[in-house]
Amino acid sequence: MNYLIKNAVAVASTGFPDARDLRIRGGYITELGNALAPTPEDPETVIDASGCVVWPGLVNTHHHLAQSIMKGVPEGLNQDLGGWLSSVPYRFWPKVTPELMYHAARLGLYELIRSGATTCADHHYLYHSTTSPELEDAVWQAAEELGIRMVLCRGSATETGSHEGMIEHRIEPESIDQIIERLDTTRKKHHQTGPDAMKKLVVAPTSLIHSSSPEGLKAQAQWARENKLRMHSHLLEVDFDEIQAHQRYGQSAIDYAESCGWLGQDVWYAHLVHSDTHAIERLAATGTGIAHCPTSNCRLGSGIAPVIRMAEAGVPISLGVDGSASAESGSMLQELNLTWLIHRAQNGPDATTLEQVLEWGSQGGADLLGLENTGRLAVGKAADLVLYDIDKPRFAGVHVPLMSPLMCGEPVHVRDSFVQGRRIVNDGQICGLDEAELTRNVQESVLQLLDNG
Ligand SMILES: [Zn+2]
Repeated sequence: MNYLIKNAVAVASTGFPDARDLRIRGGYITELGNALAPTPEDPETVIDASGCVVWPGLVNTHHHLAQSIMKGVPEGLNQDLGGWLSSVPYRFWPKVTPELMYHAARLGLYELIRSGATTCADHHYLYHSTTSPELEDAVWQAAEELGIRMVLCRGSATETGSHEGMIEHRIEPESIDQIIERLDTTRKKHHQTGPDAMKKLVVAPTSLIHSSSPEGLKAQAQWARENKLRMHSHLLEVDFDEIQAHQRYGQSAIDYAESCGWLGQDVWYAHLVHSDTHAIERLAATGTGIAHCPTSNCRLGSGIAPVIRMAEAGVPISLGVDGSASAESGSMLQELNLTWLIHRAQNGPDATTLEQVLEWGSQGGADLLGLENTGRLAVGKAADLVLYDIDKPRFAGVHVPLMSPLMCGEPVHVRDSFVQGRRIVNDGQICGLDEAELTRNVQESVLQLLDNG
């Protein structure tokens, strides 16, 4: 766990712009600088980072790992959110066994790690009244084996009519007591506290408007806060949320969220594409954050979240890949690249800066997940970092090497990656993962999903 990383082209550090070297001791960054000398008295592995830039590991704040074996399903290719949910995730959900979940999770985490991520928040929602706990265990196991930081956002639905697809596939929802009992089992088994926990549990009803009753939401919020757990859900991905909130509860979606105790510094939502001025004001006033998932929002034609206005108002911003059934690349770097571009197309060339986008994709996410001791390269912070090899033709013409992965986008080459000082990518190889075997397992998993259907 002792490393000296030397001679990087540049390091995206906090407060040390000229650093080229970095020292890791016991999982933490202990020194940043230039020409740091090896310490023979305290043995360390010296890594020559020539040709590489060093970034904080990227933090993905919204994923559905189960969807990694549901990419590009023809029936869902040209559908909006509602049609796509029925045609893809809800169609295949009942057929996901713990073994398929495990292979899907390994694929999704592999894609994140190879793009530069070191933390994944997985919104895992495959829970119904008779779900085996092994389905969730498969996610924890995959993360532990690959060494990535895992935040499991435990989805749930208590409403029978929460989605046509659920009815069609006879998915029986859980009761609120069942949800809280199972949450508590997971909390005791896996949840760690502290600003650089390797495993965290989050209370995350699948949809704030469609999958829970107001009483269920209030009960989950109360339980989450009693146990100091964060809260997450989908909100305002499409304007149907706003329409439904008015029809069912006689108020806007954001006011409904607030009335149920679902706004605050311990809450973040995926998407928020259809946030109006009032919604942005309430999010900012309460410190509620966003997981901005631009690829998925483009793919499903949902729109572009008003992230620039949100940032100006003070809403905490983070980035997520969303599930691979609606964002097939599964790459965090793609989300950064698209975030940099798409808001410029909409708001002009000064809407985003490279530095701002990198911060949203690292520190911003870490803070929203309650992992404040990660997401930045500074002395005393956890050693979650990636070395992108930019000694390649396509990066060679870039005048600002540090930002070349963000500007050029995929494909990138992560040469080495560390989580809490543990090396999880070594010279381009993800430790403990055989790519050919993963490919075979995923191909077989896809066949199994289809054969059963
Ligand atoms: Zn999602």
